Amino acid sequence: YFITVEGGEGAGKTSAIRSMEQLLRENGFEVVVTREPGGIAIAEQIREVILDKRNVDMDGRTEALLYAAARRQHLVQKVMPALQEGKAVLCDRFIDSSLAYQGYARGLGIDEIFALNRFAIHETMPDLTVLLDVSPQTGLARIHANRNREVNRLDLEAVSFHERVRSGYLQLLDLFPERIVLVDAERSEEEVVLALSAILIE
Ligand code: C5P
Ligand code: MG
Repeated sequence: YFITVEGGEGAGKTSAIRSMEQLLRENGFEVVVTREPGGIAIAEQIREVILDKRNVDMDGRTEALLYAAARRQHLVQKVMPALQEGKAVLCDRFIDSSLAYQGYARGLGIDEIFALNRFAIHETMPDLTVLLDVSPQTGLARIHANRNREVNRLDLEAVSFHERVRSGYLQLLDLFPERIVLVDAERSEEEVVLALSAILIE
């Protein structure tokens, strides 16, 4: 299975992935945990270019192309081989991040970003996408409480930007109802873990 985890800042993607990994292993799966943008050397290098504070003048379409390029390489080099070996792949962010952030929140258009990403991924879509939905207030408060986090230029975005990301994700839920499952991530970690195990059991 190819499972992706999506959500805004501070939604709890990392801890959700940790608990899903454990659940899958308990059920006999070999699991590969990875992330986007990154997961392999070339894509981590592209990530550094995208998130480098010095690159504030990066054009929006350039950024979208770099995310798609990192996605392509990561998919070919890591995700597809693992799936072919019968492993479960758990990926922190995938195409829906581009659709919500670049397509919707940054205004490039969900359709345009989808077309770009179709080129990058061909037919390889996730079997399941867990969307951790959290208000920007809660998400940003969690990030501020956790000072060890990697800091990047998007930490400077206004709350209104995070509101748009959230709306973008909720639109994707309407566009891909068969693939995306919404999890209310406003709740405690324990409650989220319970919701995730209910989803994985299905
Ligand atoms: O998942 P993570 O929080 O590590 O993502 C790194 C940063 O990249 C985040 O600040 C996120 O907002 C941003 N991002 C983005 N567009 C994407 C994927 C991630 O702006 N398509
Ligand atoms: Mg994270």
